[in-house]
Amino acid sequence: MLPIIRNCASRALYQKVSSVPVRYLNLLEYQSKDLLQKYAVSVQEFKVLDEKIDSAVLKEFECPEYVVKAQILAGGRGKGHFDNGFKGGVHITKKKDEVLDLTKKMIGHRLITKQTPKDGIQVNKVMVARSVNIIRETYICILMDREHNGPVLIASPAGGVDIEAVAEQTPEKILTIPISIDKGLTREQSLKIAEFLEFKGQLVEKCVKEVEKLWDLFKNVDAVQIEINPLAETDAGEVISVDAKLNFDDNAQFRQKEIFEMEDTSESDPREVEAAAHNLNYVAMDGNIGCLVNGAGLAMATMDIIKLNGGSPANFLDVGGGVKENQVLQAFRILSSDPNVKAIMVNVFGGIVNCATIANGIVAASKALDLNVPLVVRLEGTNVDEARNILKNSGLPIKTATDLDDAAQKAVQALS
Ligand code: GDP
Ligand code: MG
Repeated sequence: MLPIIRNCASRALYQKVSSVPVRYLNLLEYQSKDLLQKYAVSVQEFKVLDEKIDSAVLKEFECPEYVVKAQILAGGRGKGHFDNGFKGGVHITKKKDEVLDLTKKMIGHRLITKQTPKDGIQVNKVMVARSVNIIRETYICILMDREHNGPVLIASPAGGVDIEAVAEQTPEKILTIPISIDKGLTREQSLKIAEFLEFKGQLVEKCVKEVEKLWDLFKNVDAVQIEINPLAETDAGEVISVDAKLNFDDNAQFRQKEIFEMEDTSESDPREVEAAAHNLNYVAMDGNIGCLVNGAGLAMATMDIIKLNGGSPANFLDVGGGVKENQVLQAFRILSSDPNVKAIMVNVFGGIVNCATIANGIVAASKALDLNVPLVVRLEGTNVDEARNILKNSGLPIKTATDLDDAAQKAVQALS
């Protein structure tokens, strides 16, 4: 029996990935608002400044008041702070000159919020929008919900920067309505939402229209989440989406090419981005043994056994079920490009996967990439005998292992 693993690698992995349970495409606010505008959702007029902080971008953009917003793939910006001590990722000013000063304090600095990693996220772009006079902030979100097996709409009249506290302390201020994916959002439902959000008089109909347009957007772009916080009521009698957070279903990438091309990967680990491009799942860890495995469960077990044998995994690279030889090559390319990787361990159980495919991929990768770290391979399952022959006949210095413990021991030994 295994001892209780106190310092198991898979726990560290779990902590790492649990903040991003599924890899959904996430867009920056200004990109989301471009989409909202295409669907005629009311948003403020805006411009975007990048590293160049070119004042010409703001030429002929005259507003009585501006709102300057740091663009990162996380919320809570208003209450956040920068690594240079500057407070707040959302600022309001009446002076155009000050817009540039505020932008300079944001771009190139890291913004830390409740939703970012501890050391924050670097700001590369800033949105400058025509500020609106907000009377009331409400909350609305349409999301794909597992519990309801379909879309639900969540609404609250108490929107704004403290929505998390509202959900916890006053749940009666949150309304959840499941929406039928076939019938769509009904007029009755959107009226109920507008009333729950406490819109009055002519604003009820305005709110209904905004909600209908948001639903239209949700359906047509294969979103898994559209969160508008705040959906604001202004002193000019508008119902307007002041902040928008959109996520998309990765399975719909083939029919949402334009949207997926907007992906800003500057905040992601480049190896993760490269892996995703080849349909591989990659998560970087802190150790020095590169792991190539198939299936998340086996990946977790592999990492724990490495740890148990005194080693430390450098990553989690899951090649999945229907892996092709070329993907094995790409997986090795990613692993060997990591300077922390001092040994590579392959642990594949051939169920759907043919072990010979993996073996051929390993041989091709070893030749093409001129691997200069020890390689330990443990294969089991479909067509394993042929796979072993391929490795043996390759003449390459590959260490084969009989089981998982043996593989982990050999990988750890290979480091010394
Ligand atoms: P978040 O903090 O990342 O959620 O960023 P938001 O875009 O939601 O902005 C935070 C808060 O700033 C909002 O809840 C509003 O109270 C305020 N805010 C944002 N835009 C405007 C604006 O145009 N005018 C005014 N008066 N306040 C704004
Ligand atoms: Mg917000």
